[in-house]
Amino acid sequence: MASGGLEDRVDSAIASYLEVDAAAVAHNVAVFREVLGPGGPALGCVLKADAYGHGLAACLPVFHELTDRIYVIRPEDALAVRAWEAETGARRRPLLVIGAVGAGEAVLLARAGVDVVMGDRSVAGWSEPLRSAGTRLSVHLHIDSGLGREGFTLDELDAAAEVLSSCGDTLELRGVLTHFADTEDVTEQAYAQQQLEVFESAVERVEAWAGRRLERHAAASAAALVLPGSRLDVVRVGISLYGLWPSRESRISALLVRKELPELRPVLSWRCPSQLVKALPEGAFVGYGRTHRCTRATMVAVLPVGYFDGYPRLLSNRAHVLVLGRRCPVLGRVMMNHVVVDVTGVARPGERVLATLLGRDGEESVTADDLADWAQTINYEIVARLGAHLPRRTISEG
Ligand SMILES: *Cc1c(COP(=O)(O)O)cnc(C)c1O
Repeated sequence: MASGGLEDRVDSAIASYLEVDAAAVAHNVAVFREVLGPGGPALGCVLKADAYGHGLAACLPVFHELTDRIYVIRPEDALAVRAWEAETGARRRPLLVIGAVGAGEAVLLARAGVDVVMGDRSVAGWSEPLRSAGTRLSVHLHIDSGLGREGFTLDELDAAAEVLSSCGDTLELRGVLTHFADTEDVTEQAYAQQQLEVFESAVERVEAWAGRRLERHAAASAAALVLPGSRLDVVRVGISLYGLWPSRESRISALLVRKELPELRPVLSWRCPSQLVKALPEGAFVGYGRTHRCTRATMVAVLPVGYFDGYPRLLSNRAHVLVLGRRCPVLGRVMMNHVVVDVTGVARPGERVLATLLGRDGEESVTADDLADWAQTINYEIVARLGAHLPRRTISEG
């Protein structure tokens, strides 16, 4: 993409915005379809955390069309998906809330035909409201196979059976799931394999009391990519459908397992027009704490973006942004609503330029992994913490 093309997108608002590349989503979906194989497991997309910060509203139409299941954390997000389907006439997708649900919400979800995860005994408390409302809720039983988070351990399985049998008129068991603890930080999958064995023994018991086969699911991105035995009936893919690797280790594992590395395409770009461009003399300070001092006459661009928007303060004096396809270092501290970058030789005073904080501009790119490394975190946190207030635009560039 020519950087000149970016300039055309600077519109009247001087505020940063996100671009969601629909073609990149389609590419990543195709990668997973290929990995899963023809007639393979169903492909579920995880749209929690405002679609990993990409924006649920921008992502839903794209993911809805291309995937087989939708997973969200918050009941209100599930209801928003149902409302969008009703509004647009899109066919209802199987939809599962994998997060915490209160009794009142259980009724709303049941009415909307949304499945819910049953992760502890408190679901017994949904029965009375569901009965009064005259509705039934489909649940997926969460097995804690070794994450130590929600779900029934093997020792608690009998208690789960009791809850389900006493709530038989209001809860219908549809699926059984687990979640891996340690697939991203390693290049061997011994612990995940153990978890799978625990899960399989649980599934055997649960299906024995249910008297039928249930939908089985366990794999998130990393396991779906590197542990074929974990794919089961459906995979729940989050980060990698957004074009990001779960970790460095998962890339290496994928290379070992598959011989050829699947190409994931980052879906998100974050751009910001400059608020002003001006010259500072040699010796001038930049930003709070005066942590940067210009060693030469310096042209700076002030960008109206900061840690409020999700640009981590740890990027101070460390990151660069792209302007006209060139790397421009962040000078001094990242502030609440401002970042100052060095545009010497790139921009002239009074000019308005478009900075790319995340994404590609010409031959250069700044990835979520770059930002994560500089900010001592993981790409998941970088994207998930992007401000909900940032405008999201859907584009289609591949
Ligand atoms: C977040 C999450 C996923 C998706 O994880 P990724 O690593 O983003 O693919 C899958 N299942 C559960 C239960 C989750 O919480």
